[in-house]
Amino acid sequence: MFEKILIANRGEIALRIQRACREMGIKTVVVHSEVDREAKYVKLADESVCIGPAPSPQSYLNIPAIIAAAEVTDAQAIHPGYGFLSENADFAERVEQSGFVFIGPRPESIRLMGDKVSAKDAMKASGVPCVPGSDGALPDDNEEMLKIGRRVGYPVIIKAAGGGGGRGMRVVRQEEDLIRSVEMTRTEAGAAFGNPTVYMEKFLENPRHIEIQVLADEYGNAVFLGERDCSMQRRHQKVIEEAPAPGITDKQRKRVGEACAEACRRIGYRGAGTFEFLFENGEFYFIEMNTRVQVEHPVTEQITGIDIVQEQIRIAAGEKLRFSQKDIVLKGHAMECRINAEDPFKFIPSPGKITTYHPPGGPGIRVDSHIYQGYTVPPNYDSMVGKVIATGDTREQAMARMRIALSEMAVEGIKTNIPLHQMLFTDKGFVKGGTSIHYLEHLLAEAKG
Ligand code: ADP
Repeated sequence: MFEKILIANRGEIALRIQRACREMGIKTVVVHSEVDREAKYVKLADESVCIGPAPSPQSYLNIPAIIAAAEVTDAQAIHPGYGFLSENADFAERVEQSGFVFIGPRPESIRLMGDKVSAKDAMKASGVPCVPGSDGALPDDNEEMLKIGRRVGYPVIIKAAGGGGGRGMRVVRQEEDLIRSVEMTRTEAGAAFGNPTVYMEKFLENPRHIEIQVLADEYGNAVFLGERDCSMQRRHQKVIEEAPAPGITDKQRKRVGEACAEACRRIGYRGAGTFEFLFENGEFYFIEMNTRVQVEHPVTEQITGIDIVQEQIRIAAGEKLRFSQKDIVLKGHAMECRINAEDPFKFIPSPGKITTYHPPGGPGIRVDSHIYQGYTVPPNYDSMVGKVIATGDTREQAMARMRIALSEMAVEGIKTNIPLHQMLFTDKGFVKGGTSIHYLEHLLAEAKG
């Protein structure tokens, strides 16, 4: 096992990784920007290295500075967390070339899955169900493109192969708009992702977002840890996640989960990963794979008893998976609210100093957050400042616990989206479960109008 790991991230996930390391007896090095210097998790680390000013291109995305920090501290491995460099194949490669272990998949896997066209091809070949659409990238020839559109059937969605973060997508409802929309998406994709390649998918009108968590080791063993429902979204950003997904049967779970585990074996995937699906009329349709730990990983940890971050570390250290599929038992129900420093209904970021902080607690409540009273939320990064996770024997119990937690939680000095969560946890449709990815936007539009 490693003796020292460098954490190349910030905020709640840096603290989450640090806790996993401490429990395993591994020393930690935290790299941080100038504005994060005073954060408590930075002080709690065995060592910390300032890698640059606040803007992330000069700090959390600064590859040479991060590698240099690993060199001067004698760290053996680097955990990238999520966001920042976590899905950057060049970074993973540089880490390994510099003699450190990258806690994540092989660079080739990141590259394969980072291009959505090659990812979909690989998934199709492995028997993972995909959204019907163009076979690979769209051709330049307009007539060919129109033919593909007719075959797929309108509405369709044009997506950038290199897209991410909900950007680089355009819905086309009728044939006469196709050519122009493809051109526009190509231009945008070229500018934003440096790759103008686009492909076409059938646009699903009212799907749910359901994803499968996997773990795979170096030796061809792979398991799935059930699914998460992340349909509660605004602008493709997840707001609430839960596991298991309401209404999914054991048989459905097993079928799609086994296909994902098999895909891992076939592509030689290593580490933790998530297969994202749209789910409509009882069918799963693969949209993309995330080759890293996800924000919402705790809900899976709560119902499986498996520490996903620790397993990532064990796998990176070359250990074999310690369990097989039959050892994985889902127990109870867990729900996660992402707590953002923002106006709860206008969604304008609200950085600043936290004057009062009272976290919730009690049975079944887990809080993953780096904030504290007196902490200043910097304006430079994502607005998420923590996660409240409620676990119960049933979905009803998890919801009841979440309502209490949200009512107890006090964060003053900045605005947070706690009132939005409180509204959602009394909303009839959400309480019933199984709402689609458009539900929240519709609800917000109604509230406005
Ligand atoms: P990104 O990498 O940018 O997150 P995804 O491929 O995961 O892109 O898609 C993001 C979101 O866009 C999905 O969660 C869904 O809301 C919507 N979306 C993507 N593909 C489709 C589709 N074929 N039909 C309907 N909605 C889609």
